[in-house]
Amino acid sequence: MLVSAKDMLNKARDGKYAVGQFNINNLEWTKAILLTAQELNSPVILGVSEGAGKYMCGYTTVVGMVKGMINELGITVPVALHLDHGTFEGAKACINAGFSSIMFDGSHYPIEENIAKTTALVNTCDVLGISLEAEVGAIGGEEDGVIGKGECANPDECKAVADLGVTMLAAGIGNIHGKYPDNWEGLSFETLEAIKAKVGDMPLVLHGGTGIPDDQIKKAISLGVAKINVNTECQWAFQEATRKYIEEGKDLQGKGFDPRKLLAPGFEAIKAKVKEKMELFGSVGKA
Ligand SMILES: [Zn+2]
Repeated sequence: MLVSAKDMLNKARDGKYAVGQFNINNLEWTKAILLTAQELNSPVILGVSEGAGKYMCGYTTVVGMVKGMINELGITVPVALHLDHGTFEGAKACINAGFSSIMFDGSHYPIEENIAKTTALVNTCDVLGISLEAEVGAIGGEEDGVIGKGECANPDECKAVADLGVTMLAAGIGNIHGKYPDNWEGLSFETLEAIKAKVGDMPLVLHGGTGIPDDQIKKAISLGVAKINVNTECQWAFQEATRKYIEEGKDLQGKGFDPRKLLAPGFEAIKAKVKEKMELFGSVGKA
């Protein structure tokens, strides 16, 4: 069964650990993440960007696949199916398709418009038992072709959005999507502390989890981050394992061309990466 991310994130905040959001791209990705969560008895959030949703033939296809897999694989840990960086239209489409969690990213709007649009979704999500993530202060890097610079959110704007009644809040603290540049200055814990002081109990979300050093991840969790998004790192793990398989000529040996064999190393690599992250975030055994 799909669940809202609310309970798992409140528990994570209280227990000083974080739940990983791992973005999915296809069946292998989804299966790898669900099986790893079950093996480690960890709650998990499956992230779906609008681009990935289109790629997987639309949101109802994604809901059907994930629900079917939870059933067929006997997954009993809490699983939230979450729209990542949704537009207002995308959020409505995912609510209708049966997602259990939504991110509305209005960070590129003026704050007044971000607040108006987020407000419109708060009541709907509340009635339907869907968790809602809002964003303040654009998170840099590239996501589905949208490029921005690393930014630090304004703590007063964070409070204004948190007070609308969202479930969790993503705020820029110098983090970016994708690969961090060599001259990256690290997370701004000063900003994180200032935001936390304003928003109180609200679970905070750290985007751009790929490439943030482990000690900074742990410190961010200790300061109120309860959800961490991982996307690029799973893509690299899959790519590296698939490349190795081909370069070693394994696709040319016996039935190595069979897609179930060809995609297996990448699948195992995602499992290993998800396990590594769940251990780092502290969510193992917390289902
Ligand atoms: Zn993000």
